[in-house]
Amino acid sequence: LPERVDVLIIGAGAAGLMCAATAGQRGRSVLVLDHANKVGKKILMSGGGRCNFTNLYTSAENFYSRNPHFCKSALARYSQWDFIALVEKHGIPYNEKTLGQLFCNNKSKDIVDLLLAECRTAKAQVRTRCTISRVKAAGGGYRVETSMGAVSCESLVVATGGLSIPTMGATGFGYEIASQFGLDIVPTRAALVPFTQHKRQLERQSSLPGASLEVTATCGKGSFHEQMLFTHRGLSGPAVLQVSSHWREGEEVTFDLSPGRDLADWLLQRRQQNPDSHLHSVLAELWSKKLVQFFLLREKIDSRPLKQFDNSELRDMGGRLQNWKLVPSGTEGYRTAEVTLGGVDTEQISSRTMECKTQAGLYFVGEVLDVTGWLGGFNFQWAWASGHAAGEVA
Ligand code: FAD
Repeated sequence: LPERVDVLIIGAGAAGLMCAATAGQRGRSVLVLDHANKVGKKILMSGGGRCNFTNLYTSAENFYSRNPHFCKSALARYSQWDFIALVEKHGIPYNEKTLGQLFCNNKSKDIVDLLLAECRTAKAQVRTRCTISRVKAAGGGYRVETSMGAVSCESLVVATGGLSIPTMGATGFGYEIASQFGLDIVPTRAALVPFTQHKRQLERQSSLPGASLEVTATCGKGSFHEQMLFTHRGLSGPAVLQVSSHWREGEEVTFDLSPGRDLADWLLQRRQQNPDSHLHSVLAELWSKKLVQFFLLREKIDSRPLKQFDNSELRDMGGRLQNWKLVPSGTEGYRTAEVTLGGVDTEQISSRTMECKTQAGLYFVGEVLDVTGWLGGFNFQWAWASGHAAGEVA
């Protein structure tokens, strides 16, 4: 390792590599260190292998943080359009899947290659399999001791990400550095994570794993209209992942199983048109047979010809299926969560530069900070924007 660099970055993930390329392009000598065997592992596994690298509709409303204004400055100065321009400059083919979510046509590796190419142009060095044992303030900058020797730097950027997927190299090291320098940590929790259910509940829905439907999932202030998926351990799919960021242990989640339609009115209409049709075959216009069977059983509704249901029964049924409640037993936790809520408190960080207000030359970027995006490319956009903000000044 070089004995001294201008900018030392811990973590060769999305934010760290973006920061390295940006600082290197300003002529700063940059070194990125990562303990994993390769860079950008989460980028590689993201978006089902196609990396949902940004979202066309990114705005501050798509992020959770104790200070909801914190992310605005960096997102405005390095926007989704800036990253899209970079993707186009590298000739990477992409497409919009849904809701403004941009994915690579080919594979996530295209994005890692883009970042490494930018780092090469900027002459930023990247080293993997490097364990960092100690960080300390020294000589107006920082000294970092590693398994490859010690390095001194003027600016130290912490880009170690969140706690999700420990098998991919996630650690709480960034929080430890923050605490060492007196910064607060907003309590962390797994987010964008599937719900688990009690054994008894799973037995009742044993025919459903793999079945999906469109729902609006609501918990507290969070409400998301997307797909829900039944799994062997509980519930997943985008609607569930999104609402998990709002859920706390013991709370109830409400599902509208027929979003955008007044189910009671619809059933009344169907009764008028086809009075002899059985309830289950009419509901099969909305959901798969297995799902219809499950919902009727769970709500203790006997299927019979529609003409045998009176108005109040159909109204009650519609109401219940649009206000379907359950209390998850828990979540899958960091093992499968896409992100970590909470992190380094932004109170002590400059929103313009990501530098610590009380510790000159120390920067935090990406998911290690208490800024967490919705599902849909927002977390990477935060990594690009915050990494770029620090890279412009570090
Ligand atoms: P990371 O990309 O996690 O990088 C942190 C780096 O720090 C890693 O390389 C790690 O090895 C290194 N590190 C950690 N501890 C140490 C240590 N002690 N010493 C040295 N190095 C260390 N977001 C989206 O926007 N779109 C998606 O499609 C998407 N899909 C996802 C799919 C999955 C399965 C997961 C888990 C996440 C997904 N995310 C997605 C979230 C996104 O990957 C993260 O928010 C983003 O990678 C955060 O960037 P970062 O640079 O802050 O952290």
